[in-house]
Amino acid sequence: MIDLAAPADVVRLRAAHEAIHRRIQAACLRSGRDPAGIELVAVSKTVPPEVLRAAVAAGLALLGENRVQEALEKVGAVPGARWHMIGHLQANKAARALELFDEVESLDSLRLAQRLNHLIETRLAHRRPVRCAPGPLPVYLQVNVDDDPAKGGFGVAEIARELPEMAALPHLELRGLMTVGRLSEAPELSRLTFVRLRELSARLRAVEPRLGAGLSMGMTDDFEIAVEEGSTLLRIGRAIFGDRPST
Ligand SMILES: *Cc1c(COP(=O)(O)O)cnc(C)c1O
Repeated sequence: MIDLAAPADVVRLRAAHEAIHRRIQAACLRSGRDPAGIELVAVSKTVPPEVLRAAVAAGLALLGENRVQEALEKVGAVPGARWHMIGHLQANKAARALELFDEVESLDSLRLAQRLNHLIETRLAHRRPVRCAPGPLPVYLQVNVDDDPAKGGFGVAEIARELPEMAALPHLELRGLMTVGRLSEAPELSRLTFVRLRELSARLRAVEPRLGAGLSMGMTDDFEIAVEEGSTLLRIGRAIFGDRPST
């Protein structure tokens, strides 16, 4: 059965998309930025494929998932979408992730980087498919700039130490850094986290120019602050799709 997107979902998601775009534009105006330099990932975890088909029809074709298993159940059911991995990737799911995701935003260890690089190399040698476009896999290095035990990612000292080795891996393209803002009631607290990520990026790029300038930061509660502080990639779920069922 071909289950097309429901028109009501398309209308609702188009309105949500436009509302977010207006808020991004206003934040750009405040901070003297060009909205063309900011990409939006619609975080689609827990959202069913029929709603995601409507999202694609509403112009939200870049989707983000945090679990390989969930992506596996959805990717084939949402034609025309591109997919970013935004959650912790377990080593034993890395091969599967290469078949599902166009980019990995949550690369959080040197070992995982080496594993992805090796998997891509052997797949190229055996002409097995990978999902991303020809050329290296685009990745962001997730950094826990606040040293928050509740969050994953490289420590600041660790990434400085391991960056040259990762930058030398031929099948990965280091697009930039990624972080998660303060998980608190007060979005303004995320500003310091975002400033720290931006400054870390500048310091690292001064010694390792193969690290790209991308900054993936900003979610539903703090994306306007992230735009003001230089984000190039927003990961927004609830402001588009509504609240997720509590787990
Ligand atoms: C769920 C999630 C998001 C989106 O969060 P919202 O608050 O729904 O916008 C962004 N980034 C990561 C890593 C996530 O897990």
